[in-house]
This record gives sequence, C-alpha cells and structure tokens, in this order.
Amino acid sequence: MTSLEDLPLRDDLRGRLPYGAPQLEVAVRLNTNENSYPLPEAVVEAIGKALHGALADLNRYPDRDALGLRADLASHLGHGLTAEQVWAANGSNEIQQQVLQAFAGPGRTALGFGPSYSMHPLLALGTATRWVGAGRGPDFGLSPAGAVAAIEEHRPAVVFVCSPNNPTGTALEPATLAAVLAAAPGMVVVDEAYAEFARPGTPSALALLPEHPRLVVSRTMSKAFGFAGGRLGYLAAHPAVVQAVQLVRLPYHLSSLTQAAARAALAHRGALLATVEAIKQQRDRVVTTLRARGLAVADSDANFVLFRVPGGDSETAWRALLDHGVLVRDVGLPGWLRVTAGTPEETGAFLTAMEDLA
Ligand code: PMP
Repeated sequence: MTSLEDLPLRDDLRGRLPYGAPQLEVAVRLNTNENSYPLPEAVVEAIGKALHGALADLNRYPDRDALGLRADLASHLGHGLTAEQVWAANGSNEIQQQVLQAFAGPGRTALGFGPSYSMHPLLALGTATRWVGAGRGPDFGLSPAGAVAAIEEHRPAVVFVCSPNNPTGTALEPATLAAVLAAAPGMVVVDEAYAEFARPGTPSALALLPEHPRLVVSRTMSKAFGFAGGRLGYLAAHPAVVQAVQLVRLPYHLSSLTQAAARAALAHRGALLATVEAIKQQRDRVVTTLRARGLAVADSDANFVLFRVPGGDSETAWRALLDHGVLVRDVGLPGWLRVTAGTPEETGAFLTAMEDLA
C-alpha cells in the first residue's frame, strides 16, 4: 500500500496538512463566515436561466478573458474602474495564488501580519514562496512603524494586508496602509473579502489605485453576495497587473457556467447585498452582548466577531458550544474564538449557548 510518505512529494510539502475548516453537520454553522441567507427565489431563477443559456454552448470553451464578467465587476466596484483593471478567478483564493505565481515564487518572499487569514501562508507554500509572518501589536493592532519595520527587514516581493482583518474583524488604519504602500518594494495585496460589512466611514483601498500601480485589491462574492458555492473572486489593480496574472492563469480557468452564474448574480446585486445590513446588526448584537458580559471582543468591520472565551480555554469552549449545536471557529489563538454573524435565530442560539459557558 502506497502512503503519502512513499511518494516523491516536494520536500517543502512533507508533513504539511491541507487547509481544513471542519465541515460538520451541525444545526448552527457559524465557522466559515458564510452568508447565512440563501439566495432569494428571483435570483435563483435568474441564475438558473443564465446557466441554461450557457449549457447550449457547453461544447465550446468559455471566454478565456471573461470580459463581460469583468466589465460587470468593474461597474459594480465603481471608482471609475474598467474591465482592463479587473480580473476574476475561482474565489479570491485563486486570485491571490495567481498574484503569488506572477510576483513571488521560488527565491522570493511574501510577508503578512498575524493573526491574519490562514490561507495567505498556505498559498505562499503552494507557490514555493518564502513566507514571513510578522506580528501585530497589543489588541491585534498594526502600527505604521511596526509594518514598515517588518517590510524594511524582509524586503518582500508581496505584502499581504487584510482589511477588515480575518480573524480579528478590524479594518486597517488608513495611515498604516499608506505607510505599507510607501515602504513596500514590491506588490501590496489588500484582501478586502469582508469590505461590504465595514462600519460607516471605513475607506476601501480601491480609492488608492490611481496613485499606486503596485496595489492589488482582492475581493470576493463569497461573503456579502452569498455566493460562496459559486466560487467567484476578483481583483482590481493597474491594467499591467492584470496582464501579469494572465501570464500564469490556466487557460479557460473560469467555466462558462461560473461566468454566467456570476453575471446573473451581479445583475441582482441589490437583492443579494440586501442581507448585509441585517448581518451587520447581528454582528453588533454579538459584540454588545459579549462585552456586556465582560468579555474582551475585537472591534468588527466584518461579518464575524473574535471574542475571548470565559475561562480562557478556547478548546473547551469550542467543544461546549458544539455540544449546544453551535459550530464556531478555533483560529488557533489561545483563549479566543471566532463566530460568524448569522440570522437572528442562529445568532440567538450562539448567544444562548454562550450563557451556559462557565
Ligand atoms: N480572504 C479572506 C480574508 C477570507 O476570509 C476568505 C474566505 N474565508 C477568502 C479570502 C477567500 O474566499 P474565496 O476564495 O471564497 O473568495
């Protein structure tokens, strides 16, 4: 019997584990920051119709450059963006992988500031990019000086910042992003997977694109749009950056079904994004309720909340919540857990389960 150890696997992959948020059959799943609301029936019908139309041409390869979809995404983003400044892929995970393939890889370094999105180092690993995980200050803050010191020390080809940051939930201070952009010798990726949930007055890095040709803003339809199963991520950047990722993308990476479904969803974006306000209310409800209990809770601009567990033992607390039928995320930060803001009922179930925690 051949096992993984017997295969001529790359040395740097030996002993590694795949990404794996548990996919458990639990009544209340609040562990992967999905949108809890299913698509409205009218949108389901529109996507079904669009898919049916695409099926008639399934013998042909899709538009390799997804021009129609990119134009739709550009007009959704605004900021005067055009299709030449937008690129789309199967989730923002693939977008970020393509950025690393084009700008990092063997002999180059990517830098991030932990705790942050756990896929950034894994994407670096997969693309044989050296990963440097710099830290954050107290309360998970990232100061301009701290960020610049790490950049100057490691001279990375790619810097990742995540705003709002996963798992903390807090958006990056504009002064920190400005300092990162000024200091970085290479590309800067701002992962804005949760931007639609930010509190009022939180700027998007999209506004900085005209002055920064090495800035990449990464977005996704997986969260606010409730389109996680559709797998559609995108970036906005200088047209030359889009040309660069086209050098590494697989031909026809976005199926005609994906493109058709995403375009139909975007045509109904008002109906899809209508859930954002309700989710933000539940997010704020979690923050307020847990703080009223005296627990430490990070400020959240996202659809999830990072909180300190009563008693300080996150593994025990995670298990106790699961015993109450509520699945949350242990992000590997001792003493803290992350919970997604769900429907009022799901959020209520989480808060009730929390009351039983010692
Ligand atoms: N960035 C961040 C910060 C995320 O939390 C996630 C999903 N958990 C992603 C990117 C990737 O999402 P997707 O590939 O579904 O677009």
